[in-house]
Amino acid sequence: MNNRPSSQKSIVLIHGGAGSHRPTPPQIECLRQALQEGYALSQATQPALAIVEHMIGVLEASGLFNAGLGSFPQLDGKQRMDASIMEGQQLMAGGVASLEGYVHPIQAARLVMTKTDHVLVVGRHAKHLAQHFSLQRIPRATPSTQIRSPAPKHALIKSRSFSLYKKMGQYETVGAVALDLQGNLAAGASTGGVPVMFPGRVGDTPLIGSGVYADNSSGAISMTGLGESIIRMGMAKWLAVLLKAGYSPSRAARQALGELVSRIHGEAGCLILKSNGKFTIQHTTPWMAAGYWNGKGPPIVRDRFSARHSFHQPNS
Ligand code: ASP
Repeated sequence: MNNRPSSQKSIVLIHGGAGSHRPTPPQIECLRQALQEGYALSQATQPALAIVEHMIGVLEASGLFNAGLGSFPQLDGKQRMDASIMEGQQLMAGGVASLEGYVHPIQAARLVMTKTDHVLVVGRHAKHLAQHFSLQRIPRATPSTQIRSPAPKHALIKSRSFSLYKKMGQYETVGAVALDLQGNLAAGASTGGVPVMFPGRVGDTPLIGSGVYADNSSGAISMTGLGESIIRMGMAKWLAVLLKAGYSPSRAARQALGELVSRIHGEAGCLILKSNGKFTIQHTTPWMAAGYWNGKGPPIVRDRFSARHSFHQPNS
């Protein structure tokens, strides 16, 4: 049975992190590719959840971002990855934290959602789950594990502060939100963390309500930025509450990001998409690699979005 409302349109949004470094042309191109593939899946009536998983998977496998293959190592030299995914109809969600050795933490997150009664599985237990379902392993000593350490040695030794994180400002986490042809929303994110992190550190990305949230009755949200600040403000759920209270995506982002900065000197970027197709991409950082596509014209991918570039386009 085709229950597709005739006026329903799909739209996909993606990001490759917010920070103080300008995204590279290969990163921009990879985001465009992921948008194209995500939108094609939406036109093939795939659900938003599968679209988000696929788009994030493209970025995880590229080695160009701080997620999957390209994840930053923690201070002990090991990559430990976080990811989560959520759908907006039943509010089903799954996440993994401190997952080692797998290319697609987003797939592990979805397995937590679909194959277990839980929302978050961590560490070696997340690894066992990935192993059980034969997810793709990261080959030992890939070039990416050697070149992706963003922190100079002296910074690794001295750093403990947010201010250093902020100066280094290279995040490159990935995330996506989607609205499918059935009118359902989904959101997800995947990361290797921040440039300098204690082994075992977990950020906002696997935490439903901090880094990711999706609810058809409010919106789909994917955050990026300094995870500690995003967790402390409960950003994703807060944004969803603002949307439910009638805020537009743009106004909700201005309000929440504004308070994130003014109250705790945090920094972040976000994708926000409502089920009526209105969306915004905003960030407090100098740069944010992100884009969107609703099938009209070519996919839009930019290396920064100012308040002027918040989009309020209705989906019709
Ligand atoms: N939010 C991620 C974390 O703190 C980093 C990022 O978004 O780039 O782990």
